[in-house]
Amino acid sequence: MSATAAFAPIWNDLLGQPEAVGQLEVAVRHRDQGVHHAWLVTGPPGSGRSNLAHAFAAALLCPTGGCGECKSCILAKAGSHPDISVLSTEKVQISIEEVRQLVANSQFGGSMGKFRIMIIEDADRMQERSSNVLLKALEEPPAGTIWLLCAPSEADMLPTIRSRVRRVGLKVPAIEEVARILIERDGIESKLAHQVAAESQSHIGMARRLATSSEARSRRRETLMAALNITGVTSAVMTAERWLEIAKKDAEALTAERDDEEKTALMHSLGLKPGDNIPANLKSDLKALEEGQKRRATRSVRDGLDRILVDLMSLLRDVLTLQIGAGVALVNEDLRAGITEMANGSTAAQTIHRIEAVSTARHRVDSNVRDLMALEALAVQLRRK
Ligand SMILES: [Zn+2]
Repeated sequence: MSATAAFAPIWNDLLGQPEAVGQLEVAVRHRDQGVHHAWLVTGPPGSGRSNLAHAFAAALLCPTGGCGECKSCILAKAGSHPDISVLSTEKVQISIEEVRQLVANSQFGGSMGKFRIMIIEDADRMQERSSNVLLKALEEPPAGTIWLLCAPSEADMLPTIRSRVRRVGLKVPAIEEVARILIERDGIESKLAHQVAAESQSHIGMARRLATSSEARSRRRETLMAALNITGVTSAVMTAERWLEIAKKDAEALTAERDDEEKTALMHSLGLKPGDNIPANLKSDLKALEEGQKRRATRSVRDGLDRILVDLMSLLRDVLTLQIGAGVALVNEDLRAGITEMANGSTAAQTIHRIEAVSTARHRVDSNVRDLMALEALAVQLRRK
């Protein structure tokens, strides 16, 4: 079944989610008859909740429903579309002031198109007081304002909010499904497709990147090899430094690739060739793009760190798999020798402690404690006993 072939290009990173994308495409297709004013996107971490919300916003605003290439789509992808407001936080709680500000912005109509879209990326991080501010806005929405809330599950939202939103559920696609998409859509060779599908733990965007960039693959491998070879405190400190460097490099590479593509695409949509002088009346479009890209760059080092921690989690999961004889496939099959060694040199209880140490590090990185300290604390936990 190739249920994904018919979707607009803007959904390309969400191909493992045909049900959710299909549901939203119907809404986009009939947007001239009105669009429901509030949606809740739910799904486990890494399933692409905020990607889906951003793609939906872009599709609603694109003249052709999500071409991925027009000025509107390019600005939306770079996070600088004037008609999309995003509340994303690196803090544990979204403050009531942030919600008030967003609600105030929601009162203005769209400037480029007929919709004004408000995205709350971690809607589960609102306390009841903030939720009630949002509720008021959902009860009396101005025409054309659409709220897109993202949360792990419906249960994370107040019942009063739940009753006003249309729900879109994401699932984690099977590794087999991700591999199939890479083979069929991107022409990746089967063995590599299966390897990266497993390594990315079914994250399609990540899987494609690993498949197409040998540097990204070797950065991932180096991260995990380093984790398997921490001998003492000094080596733990050095490993943490190396991880941070890798995260920065990875973020830089990813950002540079995307920035270039987006800039070229925007120039093209404005009728310019690379290297052309930019007419004064078009400068603001490019400036908006560059500002969005700058904002995204700050976020992407944090994303790079999180990817490293997710990869480390998969390594420990493999160690535990061997220790308890679970008999399921390893995520990191190509590191089996080192994983076996770590499994033999520690107990399952220790591995569970180490998995908790990764969770703690993820939480710390997430809440702005100095990144290097969080990584050092983790690396010390992983040293060989
Ligand atoms: Zn478009």
